[in-house]
Amino acid sequence: MITTHNLGFPRIGSHRELKFALESFWRGESSAKDLTDTGRQLRIRHWQHQSKLSFVPVGDFSFYDQVLDMSVMLGHLPARVQQSQGSALDKYFRIARGRTAGDSDCSCVRAGEMTKWFDTNYHYIVPEIDGDTAFSLDPERLLQQVKEAQAAGYRAKPVIIGPVTYLWLSKVKDDTDKLSLLSKLLPQYLALLNLLFEAGVSWVQIDEPILVTELDLDWQQALQQSYAALAASPANVLLATYFGALKDNLALAASLPVAGLHVDGLACGDEVDGLVQRLTNDQVLSVGVINGRNVWKTDLKQTLNWLQPIYQQLKGRLWLAPSCSLLHVPVDLSTEAAMDPTLRSWLAFAQQKLEELNLLAVALTDGEDKVARQLKENQLAIDSRRQSDLVHCDAVQRRLQGVNESDAERYSGYTARAAQQKKALDLPLFPTTTIGSFPQTAEIRAIRRQFKAGDLTEQDYKTKVQQEIAACVAEQEALGLDVFVHGEPERNDMVEYFGEQLSGYGFSKYGWVQSYGSRCVKPPIIYGDIARTQALTVDWTSYARSLTNKPMKGMLTGPVTMLNWSFVRDDQSREQTCRQLALAIRDEVQALEAAGVNIIQIDEAALREGLPLRRSEWQYYLDWAVGSFRLAANGVADSTQIHTHMCYSDFNDIMPAIAAMDADVITIETSRSDMVLLDAFDQFSYPNQIGPGVYDIHSPNVPSAEQMVELMQLAAERIPAERLWVNPDCGLKTRRWEEVKPALKNMVQAAEQLRESY
Ligand code: GLN
Ligand code: ZN
Repeated sequence: MITTHNLGFPRIGSHRELKFALESFWRGESSAKDLTDTGRQLRIRHWQHQSKLSFVPVGDFSFYDQVLDMSVMLGHLPARVQQSQGSALDKYFRIARGRTAGDSDCSCVRAGEMTKWFDTNYHYIVPEIDGDTAFSLDPERLLQQVKEAQAAGYRAKPVIIGPVTYLWLSKVKDDTDKLSLLSKLLPQYLALLNLLFEAGVSWVQIDEPILVTELDLDWQQALQQSYAALAASPANVLLATYFGALKDNLALAASLPVAGLHVDGLACGDEVDGLVQRLTNDQVLSVGVINGRNVWKTDLKQTLNWLQPIYQQLKGRLWLAPSCSLLHVPVDLSTEAAMDPTLRSWLAFAQQKLEELNLLAVALTDGEDKVARQLKENQLAIDSRRQSDLVHCDAVQRRLQGVNESDAERYSGYTARAAQQKKALDLPLFPTTTIGSFPQTAEIRAIRRQFKAGDLTEQDYKTKVQQEIAACVAEQEALGLDVFVHGEPERNDMVEYFGEQLSGYGFSKYGWVQSYGSRCVKPPIIYGDIARTQALTVDWTSYARSLTNKPMKGMLTGPVTMLNWSFVRDDQSREQTCRQLALAIRDEVQALEAAGVNIIQIDEAALREGLPLRRSEWQYYLDWAVGSFRLAANGVADSTQIHTHMCYSDFNDIMPAIAAMDADVITIETSRSDMVLLDAFDQFSYPNQIGPGVYDIHSPNVPSAEQMVELMQLAAERIPAERLWVNPDCGLKTRRWEEVKPALKNMVQAAEQLRESY
């Protein structure tokens, strides 16, 4: 039968067993043995789910992160951790999570930096490199897991991160040239391959996803040098690329002396023929035919039609797999008993994707007749989705076609608008505000939970939420803030809250996906044309507004963030889905304005996250993303002030896009960077108003008024004082009132002091 394999399975467990085991261990409530037992059970269970595959992945399971595991295996942890006391597991979690003086052994260690894994929402621990960096192979964990899989009767295919991608992902702490470390790194990899071969492994998957990015010549040469060196091992290397097409790197990838190449068949569909031509007669081509990053069923018939001729040519040299590791999708659809059955019939989570893979393999090897029933079922689901009224809404499509450029334009330019807003709002210099949410107390969460469970009537729920809003408004009144918010007590999550009220959005109950460590997110699923059939926030905001004479800021999540934090449709472009979201938000913006709300904030925390992996594709993305924001925001009068907010900011390389958003006010996260992020705005001569965060909401520390004044003085060196706002870095929902009240009191005081000196 045709060879099938998987690049990686979600490690968190269908009911997040790993999360709970980790958190209990970290709290000291369970032992290291309990944790390692849970790990072993999950690995065995996950291999069982993959038992129909020719090879199961090994080494993809991790207690925190696969890049950190790779650093451990290479003996490459930062010196600050190597020197600390404790077991290997302690050191591992120390670099993953850091350790502060409050901990019992008092050896404070800074956590490793975390950043996003390519263009996914998964975060890895960045390897740290400097001139002293040395490697020393520590293969025990991987060898152990290989043994475990073999003992359970599976053909183990270890999965490791390739040497060039490993260096590419790392961060240099001095002026060391990353690639100068390659010669130290390759002997470790070669030794590892040899050990795995001795352990009875025939194939090793080595991931080099950087092959789908633009590579300078020295990085291309590094790949050539690496795989030439690793060819000395008798183990077969399956070089894996994913998350995109090979494009300019196709010839390079096909020329590397490896036993097999895996490509992302969804992105590389039209590259496969070229690859078939280039590969030698003994090389394997593994095609990723099942989308490892989205939740839709595969169109099996269409895939088979595509694969048949390739299979005729390659025969046993064609392997099949998902496009990438299944780490990025939820585990098991069969637990979703409460989901709408029609929507459920269109979906496949990790386990279901492996069933699809198996069906494709059987159909190719033994003929489609062998799985005729399953293929028919699949076809019915695909057809049902293609034709469903749940997906297609003519009114939405027509409206989108009718959108013209002027819909995304304000009536006047910033200067004229600012003058009108100044008149309408009458705000002092250095106006103070917050980013939206106030502490989400246990009571608030209980109110929402009870309402969802049906234990609170709608009326009681409304009354209780209103009480929270009123309390929040009273606090802001007492603090003397200038622009108020209602505090967002009704929102569980900034995307889910809106998605739940829009048609075209679906939700899973257990569709968790690892974000980092034990943290998971449950992205909503956009399955159909997006329509807003009712007001989303107007009632709460109007109620809040009725309680005060201060301006009340309306609070919305922007279309780009909604898109980037959801599973999206694969039957139309992201751009088109984003524009539908934009129209829905636009309606809400206009409804708020009509209700008298004349400051409206549209959060775009995830705008940067959507940037494509290849720089050459950035501009296209930014054009439609910014266009969508503008479509959502710009249907208002000049006197209505539009704010936007962005966290995790690095603006340097996207400044023109930020300016093109043309929000009257942008609030950003700057407190920990001493305002240097504002340099980008300064150099760009950014014309509109900015609220550079002066209060780091990620820390329980209460900043003093002096500290905040100093930060604002630094800001005023870059941006004229008349265009500065004073606000925290982000929403306050994760903080406690005991921290928030004194911090905001100091913030208001800081603004008062600033007004005296400017
Ligand atoms: N308005 C949101 C809040 O305050 C913004 C959150 C975010 O940007 N991540 O919680
Ligand atoms: Zn934020």
